[in-house]
Amino acid sequence: MIGAIIGDMAGCRFENHPHQPGLDPLDFPLFAERASFTDDTVLSFAVCEALMESSGDPERMQEACCRRFKEFARKYPRAGYGRRFREWTFSSDAMPFASFGNGSAMRVSPVGWSFETLEETECMARASALPSHSHPEGIKGACSVAAAIFLARKGKRPEEIRDHIQRAYGYDMERRLSDIGNTGFDSTCQGSVPQAIICASRRQAPKKPSGPPYSCAAMRTRRAPLPDP
Ligand SMILES: [Mg+2]
Repeated sequence: MIGAIIGDMAGCRFENHPHQPGLDPLDFPLFAERASFTDDTVLSFAVCEALMESSGDPERMQEACCRRFKEFARKYPRAGYGRRFREWTFSSDAMPFASFGNGSAMRVSPVGWSFETLEETECMARASALPSHSHPEGIKGACSVAAAIFLARKGKRPEEIRDHIQRAYGYDMERRLSDIGNTGFDSTCQGSVPQAIICASRRQAPKKPSGPPYSCAAMRTRRAPLPDP
């Protein structure tokens, strides 16, 4: 969860921004001015709540996610949701809509930490996607991120994780960081999830520190403003 929140805060300033000339995608300050949590964080908490009340049952998980997404999004209505998700949130409609935006993947990390088998992990990731991202690409995005987290947690090597993701989901995982870095903004699952997994699994130690060191204690003193009044 902490990793998901840090990623959300570090990435929020790039959302909706096209190619940024001169930006080194491997070396930039994580916490820039106005870095704040967004819908990624809010809905990760919603998934976590749904997991805790569904006891590993995928049908209960789908129902709990539907309810918790609406509850959390109504509590934090200006956290940066996509237009269709926002409309769905404020409707009484419980029917799924077939988004393939990367929202299903950005909120799924708690699932990757909750089960002891890959099958359960992928099954529950699918259940978390269905209320709003029932398009096959939306489901695939959620399942692949949860599976990558599960495999990393179980000590699999980066190349084993990429192999599984390529075989199970068909994403091209052969690309290098230099092939995908700083190519612009794409909010679809298929246009961002494989890139994210490649970045995480091909990471290297930074050549030099990029900006001031951040500790948990320092983060506690750098509270970002809440997105809602
Ligand atoms: Mg966001």
